[in-house]
Amino acid sequence: MSASGLAPPADGEALRFRDPVRARALLRVLERATRPREADPVCLMHVCGSHEQAIARFGLRAALPKGLRVIAGPGCPVCVTDAPEVDEAVTLAERGLRVLTYGDMLRVPGSARSLADARAEGARVEVVYSVAQAVDAARACDEELVFFATGFETTAVATAAVLLGDPPPNFSVLSAHKYIPPVMEIVAEMPGTRIEGFLAAGHAATITGSAVFEPFVARHGVPVVVAGFEPLDVLAGLARLVELVRRGEPRVENAFPRCVTREGNRRAQERLWSVFEPAGGCWRGITRVPNGNLRLRPAFVRFDARRRFEAWLRDPARPAPSPLAQQCVCGDVMAGLASPSDCALFGRSCTPATPVGACMVSSEGTCRIWHQYGGHPDLGVSA
Ligand code: SF4
Repeated sequence: MSASGLAPPADGEALRFRDPVRARALLRVLERATRPREADPVCLMHVCGSHEQAIARFGLRAALPKGLRVIAGPGCPVCVTDAPEVDEAVTLAERGLRVLTYGDMLRVPGSARSLADARAEGARVEVVYSVAQAVDAARACDEELVFFATGFETTAVATAAVLLGDPPPNFSVLSAHKYIPPVMEIVAEMPGTRIEGFLAAGHAATITGSAVFEPFVARHGVPVVVAGFEPLDVLAGLARLVELVRRGEPRVENAFPRCVTREGNRRAQERLWSVFEPAGGCWRGITRVPNGNLRLRPAFVRFDARRRFEAWLRDPARPAPSPLAQQCVCGDVMAGLASPSDCALFGRSCTPATPVGACMVSSEGTCRIWHQYGGHPDLGVSA
């Protein structure tokens, strides 16, 4: 899989969107457009871990002009999974259920423990590469099996598809799926925010269509440009976004037309919304986001692990986070209020091998990405 989660492009295709000559031309466009803002840089936010990966991996941030600042928002689905949601999965595993989930979720801390901690003590926690694999595992046994479902609307479509495909009765879903557009509202309304435009994720928009951002733009008066994940996709998206900011034209534009349409994938949307409905929910370290979570509709209640095991989940134990975890500023990083390097633990007590916060666990977490591509050797210092 490519960084975008889409199928990898053929070699020629990849090179076409990594052409250094075109990249330099786009950087010159950005430099000209933002020169008057050198003292007060244009501030843009992307809301996608795959965009941060592309920006860091190809060294784009260092090449951007002085008049442009690109900050990472809440774009990592693993990172925004709230600690109490992880606690629920840990509780079910500790009760003896088989809990299956994506590999990135294993080490994400709950209030005090992760699924990896529970597994180390004998709980049955297993990694799967797809929800379909979890359903196959349920078909092959008689015992209760819970799929801890995380990810944004792109991933939720796959969960919806298996629930529409008549899964076995011993299969249930603990949904921690999140829906991106509502959290953009929260970020745009944060006191003191200086974000003048948003770069939206091309893969999510493949499902939702670019039109999903039109109400947001109408409400907040800031432009949104949908962009892909090759370096030229990102630079072209930024160039278009800067142009819209400069002209004072708040509108949605699609800079990823080879994958995204205005309407999106109608069939996938029908499946998504026939199984899930939006509900208020907490995003880790940010806040409660109205309509930011995806919960199962009443018609699918028999597959809802929260209902099936309600008695065990009613009051799960929530020990206080460790003193080290209390220093984690993941929430500020995901809200674009802090950079990983602002955190005293970054590269010291918190590294990919010893993650303290969720942003250091996932390959889409900003702290993990900055650590991987930032050239910061671990300092090996314990706080
Ligand atoms: Fe949290 Fe670690 Fe990132 Fe600091 S470096 S904000 S502790 S994940």
